[in-house]
Amino acid sequence: MPEGAEKEEMKDLYRRLIVHIRNSIDRSQGNAIMLKELVFSFFLHIQGIHRWRPMKFSDIIRVEPNTKACSRFFGERFSSILECPHITDSTIESLRNETTSPESPAYQKLLSYVGKATFMTDMDKIRPGKLTPYNESFNNIRIKYCPKQSYFPIKSFEIRTMLAVLHWNTMQRAELCGERRISEVIQVFSKSKQTKVMKIKKEPTKMEWKKRVVESARRKKEEQGMGDPVNDSQVNPDEESELLFDDVQALLDFMEAENNMEDSEE
Ligand SMILES: [Zn+2]
Repeated sequence: MPEGAEKEEMKDLYRRLIVHIRNSIDRSQGNAIMLKELVFSFFLHIQGIHRWRPMKFSDIIRVEPNTKACSRFFGERFSSILECPHITDSTIESLRNETTSPESPAYQKLLSYVGKATFMTDMDKIRPGKLTPYNESFNNIRIKYCPKQSYFPIKSFEIRTMLAVLHWNTMQRAELCGERRISEVIQVFSKSKQTKVMKIKKEPTKMEWKKRVVESARRKKEEQGMGDPVNDSQVNPDEESELLFDDVQALLDFMEAENNMEDSEE
């Protein structure tokens, strides 16, 4: 494979991995074992394996001699996750199905990122979610700003999360001021509770802040003039793989910050 094509494949796979890790964090709900197995199931899915028996990671994920994987990786097993989430979860849309050879440099490179001892220890830090109704309702809004199947660089992920916070805060404030009245009570099926629950629908909240954000963005653009506000050309392509690696670190830092925030709420 020519070098350029290889780099493109690497970038594409990397983005899919980041999306996969984010979704795995949501799906595992603070269960560290589940998170680990979900994260590594990426390396099965991209081989075209979507169901498997209980076995060691290393029995089904090929580690080339030059790929660094920590000793812990070789001890880990698939035990609770034995199929891809898309097998039973019909809400997973537009899933990519192209396969990648486990021998390919891209596959091995990604494996060396997540097979590192630091990454594996970071995954242990995820705590059983204190998934309060607040947390859940915030998450529902966050998903609108950061759709689950899309890749965002960490910076954009942060900005989108900030927008979700503004949205949520506006709703909470309206609630406290008594501006949101109940418009409808409906019965819906709750997946987590496995039964029907009553859901209260409230009047939509005015989102004046969105207009302000758009207006100030437009003003800024007028000041800046033509051209891309983000100058990607400053990034040296040779540093790209390092940047990609930093992005994984940033994601983990972000995860940790989120966890700490939850801890301090109590
Ligand atoms: Zn799959």
